[in-house]
Amino acid sequence: MRFALRARSVLTLAGESPARGLSALNAPVRQLTDGVVIVRNTDIEAVEPYPSFARRKDAPPLLDLGNVSLAPGFINCHCHLELSHLEDKTVSGRGFVPWLASLVARTRRPPAHDEARASLISAVRQLRAGHTVHVGDVGSRVPMAVAAALADNNPAPAREKAARESLPFNLPDCPSSPALPPTCSALTATHFLEAFGFGPPLSCQTSPLSAGGYAPAAAASLPPHLHSSCAVVAHSLYSTCPEALRATRAWCRDNGRPFSFHLAECLEETLFLREGRGELHRFFAYRVLPGNWQAPGLDPTPFAERLGLLGPDTLAVHCTQCDAKDIDILGKNRVSCCLCPRSNARIGTGIAPARHMAKAGILLCLGTDGLSSAPDLDMGGEMRAVRDTWGFSPQAILRMATLNGAHALGLSRMLGSLEPGKRAALSFVKDM
Ligand SMILES: [Zn+2]
Repeated sequence: MRFALRARSVLTLAGESPARGLSALNAPVRQLTDGVVIVRNTDIEAVEPYPSFARRKDAPPLLDLGNVSLAPGFINCHCHLELSHLEDKTVSGRGFVPWLASLVARTRRPPAHDEARASLISAVRQLRAGHTVHVGDVGSRVPMAVAAALADNNPAPAREKAARESLPFNLPDCPSSPALPPTCSALTATHFLEAFGFGPPLSCQTSPLSAGGYAPAAAASLPPHLHSSCAVVAHSLYSTCPEALRATRAWCRDNGRPFSFHLAECLEETLFLREGRGELHRFFAYRVLPGNWQAPGLDPTPFAERLGLLGPDTLAVHCTQCDAKDIDILGKNRVSCCLCPRSNARIGTGIAPARHMAKAGILLCLGTDGLSSAPDLDMGGEMRAVRDTWGFSPQAILRMATLNGAHALGLSRMLGSLEPGKRAALSFVKDM
């Protein structure tokens, strides 16, 4: 299959490195006026001006999208699709532990099969409607159900309008965007399988995903065709034993996968690790922590560094509590940070110091988080929140949602910009 798409402009981001630092984030985005993207099967064959295309002897059929701007499809770096049935069912606005307690109470009993399936399908359609082409999804409990929902190819026309209008770019003359061919709006995933808890390794696991026995039990049942898109990671510093954190981090390094974990998400986490006290510590003390547990006596980020968890292939999620010393550590280790401002605001866990992080060279990317804490899974809404929270430029936000997200998930060769050889994964944006 070979075809071409013509648009008033094509924002390619071609040839760019991941954007670290404010000047790289804010640099003008390369635009091809009256551009054509030629697609062969699922990949981009060429991106060129329309006059060049018109002179081709081998020109494929052309779909003229009209007065719109094409851009790379969006990368949602942090989501929890398996918690989609908890939409509007958790406590919000009262801080992390009340939210967590409401989530734990709800997850004690798994949802009915039909309810779980319907919520997953609906969530996946939200992702597609917001032009998300890849999602970094934590799916430790029911990875097969999540994979099945992601394979559902039906579009979601009902939500498409809302998703399009929530993009943060601000020119009024962009008309309704036409539907993209299915090839250009395919949704793929990195399946993060999270280790959790302080128990011993599971000695019976023989799966290549075992990660020293610390992978969640569901990993052992995953079929081989999903192995290449999985990463065995760990939940967080407060919920997961150091042995599991180190083992999963080593597994990711050995297998060339991104290592992702929740870092410095709330003040209670800091009190928990630094002083072994506080609301989160009380919540975990009799549920998860072993009797002989002792606080490491460090803030989250220095503790993560001491455990050897930080590096260019590490994706730290949230980071709302990071101070100047933490930013220095994350920058020095060239860590990527996933911002989830709407989830943080809804739970009430604070605002990440994103502008300082950008200045320190930390690679910023975006995630919606799951429907257990986010209002929806629309990347346009997340991008608008990034604009409203920190005042980043449209150019910076577009890079966070595309190029930087692809790099953070180790997918730069396939996604993040529009250039020959990459996947034909597209979005529409208004002009910049
Ligand atoms: Zn999360």
